[in-house]
Amino acid sequence: MKKAITVLPGDGIGPEVTAAAVHVLQAIAKRFQHEFEFHYAAIGGAAIDTHGQPLPDETIASCSTADAVLLGSVGGPKWDANPPELRPEKGLLALRKQFNLYANLRPVKSYKALESASPLKAEHVSGTDFVIVRELTGGLYFSEPRKKTSDMAADTLVYTRKEIERIVDSAFQLARTRKGKVTSVDKANVLASSKLWREIVEEKKKGYPDVEVEHILVDAAAMQLIREPSSFDVIVTENLFGDILSDEASMITGSLGMLPSASLRDDEFGVYEPIHGSAPDIAGQGKANPAGAILSAAMMLRHSFGMAVEAQAIETAVENVLEDGYFTADLHGGRILSTDAWTAKVIEELDS
Ligand code: ATP
Ligand code: MG
Repeated sequence: MKKAITVLPGDGIGPEVTAAAVHVLQAIAKRFQHEFEFHYAAIGGAAIDTHGQPLPDETIASCSTADAVLLGSVGGPKWDANPPELRPEKGLLALRKQFNLYANLRPVKSYKALESASPLKAEHVSGTDFVIVRELTGGLYFSEPRKKTSDMAADTLVYTRKEIERIVDSAFQLARTRKGKVTSVDKANVLASSKLWREIVEEKKKGYPDVEVEHILVDAAAMQLIREPSSFDVIVTENLFGDILSDEASMITGSLGMLPSASLRDDEFGVYEPIHGSAPDIAGQGKANPAGAILSAAMMLRHSFGMAVEAQAIETAVENVLEDGYFTADLHGGRILSTDAWTAKVIEELDS
């Protein structure tokens, strides 16, 4: 199959980890006889430097014609003092808005070889395999009015029925391909938006009789994530709760560097990126763990291209390399390899 992929390397370790993911995709193309065309475009600080803005029109144009987008990371100390419209992060928010990417998926999975890297006890972490489905374009981060004076400040939390329905549907559909359980996280004892959220989940579940549904308050969910992470399958929640819970969840399996994400909408298009940031402290040193980016490429294959077998091949290769004791510096233990050398091991696995 022929597919066009726009690569947005961005800043910090973004270029290193996206290069690793592209190498893995090239190995997949060769092994499974696909044709992947890569187009490169600028975003974030790199785009501010070359185009004077964090999301140039050319980048939007390239993404518009692509089947999927692979993104590295944006940001860094160089642009920290910039005015708000010239902040690298602005590029990312604008990209999500531009392409209406309302569903953010973050899988969290424990690896046997990494269980000792978790701050939780290995027996706690063992068997953890869930996905957080976070609503990404509504709620507190976007609702108006907002106001701030030196004496008071106000934010607004709006969700429409349509916005809730589409994200809840994404979660139910995902659960069907997994363990068949949806945990809906809200604050329905206090918030009106959460009451509507809960009502809609109750309505929607009638259309998915094969899926088990539980409702849990966000405070209890924060606790349960630490107490028994293996009890979850698909967690669906609104923007702010999802932001907080997904950072909490990212610690369960040990390293930020391991975790992929997908930002999706109603069709097959998506933007795929590791959850970590630009990690300016290790940029350009060959120390970055490319697994989050490589596993993001696997999500791209599965979701945007319908290539489930190819995606699984990548996931298995990553797992095998870890099992063989090859780590990157963030994982502590095992034989520490550079970004490129570790990526080469993954490709070796794919070719074997
Ligand atoms: P940003 O503002 O871009 O999110 P940040 O300061 O939050 O940046 P992150 O990039 O999110 O930093 O990462 C936090 C720390 O985790 C970094 O200091 C870095 O050392 C480490 N880290 C993050 N990603 C990786 C990775 N892929 N490989 C190795 N270490 C990583
Ligand atoms: Mg960060």
